[in-house]
Amino acid sequence: MTSSERTGVVGAGTAGLAAATLLARAGASVDVLEQAPQPGPVGAGLLIQPTGMSVLARLGVLDRVVAGAARIDRVVGTTVGGKRFMDLAYRDEHGLGVHRGALFSALRDAAVEAGVRILPGAEVVDYRDDGVLIDAGGASYGPYDLVVGADGARSTMRRFLDVRARVFEHRWGALWGVFDDPGGAFGGELDQYFDGTSRLAGFLPTGSGAVSLFWSVRLDRVAAVRAAGIDAFRRELVSLAPVAAELKLPSMDALLPASYRQVSLPRWHRGRLVLLGDAAHALSPQLGQGANLALMDAAALADAASLAEFEAARRAQARFYAFGARALNTVFQSDWDVMAWPRDTLMAPVSRLPWVRGRALDVLSGRAAGLFRSVRT
Ligand SMILES: Cc1cc2nc3c(=O)[nH]c(=O)nc-3n(C[C@H](O)[C@H](O)[C@H](O)COP(=O)(O)OP(=O)(O)OC[C@H]3O[C@@H](n4cnc5c(N)ncnc54)[C@H](O)[C@@H]3O)c2cc1C
Repeated sequence: MTSSERTGVVGAGTAGLAAATLLARAGASVDVLEQAPQPGPVGAGLLIQPTGMSVLARLGVLDRVVAGAARIDRVVGTTVGGKRFMDLAYRDEHGLGVHRGALFSALRDAAVEAGVRILPGAEVVDYRDDGVLIDAGGASYGPYDLVVGADGARSTMRRFLDVRARVFEHRWGALWGVFDDPGGAFGGELDQYFDGTSRLAGFLPTGSGAVSLFWSVRLDRVAAVRAAGIDAFRRELVSLAPVAAELKLPSMDALLPASYRQVSLPRWHRGRLVLLGDAAHALSPQLGQGANLALMDAAALADAASLAEFEAARRAQARFYAFGARALNTVFQSDWDVMAWPRDTLMAPVSRLPWVRGRALDVLSGRAAGLFRSVRT
């Protein structure tokens, strides 16, 4: 984007902070408006893919993030009966298991260093076409030449595009948190354990002897699972994944609920407003790509000559991952237990076919933009 622009970014998440830094470095004067009085991450660990790592390198924060993270070499899926039906190892590269807090701190510090002004406690509720943003307290900001809506899956800025969003709310979500792994039971891989489609536990090492636990749960059961208490939860977890016996699980309060939605929009920009990250294309986390796509969006926005060029560069990939994540949700987390059989039986032999394996690796590393297309990185 052109360097002289006054830019207002709504949301200090992964997309907003990364875009703010790159635009400021290109010469723009950038404000980030964040609703939280004390901006910070919500949730547990993230798997960052090689494509997202390249954006972190461009932002100058990769070494810092790597220092506090865990190297991930493969993604593994095992049934409750012990059958390994998924085993996908990166080729000549790797992913990163990152604590959200560590990623947030690195991105925030990079933004501040680039001269970005972060304005906490500014919940944007209104937008005018002349580029003025108004917060819940009535204060106005701008006018801005460019307004970037990076306010996540439940975006307010989406409404100002004047288009109809297609939104699908998943019935299944998760409880997740980061825990100490004193015995070092988890290392080097994202380990997922499955029992049909109704029980799933995922373990992602995030560095410094910690592991991020993801426990699939139908949203109408979250309250009951939490009320049953930590001992009942531990028993249930260990019955699916015996390797979790050594994890230190202090209380249910350490497990935060997460719900997710799929959002697709006919366009991502209008006038001087553009959306990116989950605001533009929220998806469920099955492919571990949301933050990764957000980082790639930020880089593409900084490189594009126009908002139309930005959208053209990113749309095919976002659509492909949204489709894939929704399909995978049905076979990983759903009421359709019958979907587990083809998953457990066919996935291993099919994924040994060289073409399928190559495409699966492209999907995992964040390079796919269609069944036969990849993005250049
Ligand atoms: C359980 C789970 C596991 C996941 N695992 C992975 C993974 O392994 N790998 C991966 O890449 N992705 C993963 N994701 C997805 C990832 O978390 C998101 O895709 C990513 O955080 C999107 O970044 P964002 O910056 O677009 O939005 P967000 O991170 O949601 O940031 C939006 C920001 O905008 C602020 N905001 C919202 N509304 C307003 C407003 N009106 N005014 C001002 N500020 C506002 C919010 O407070 C927030 O700070 C996972 C998601 C979930 C739920």
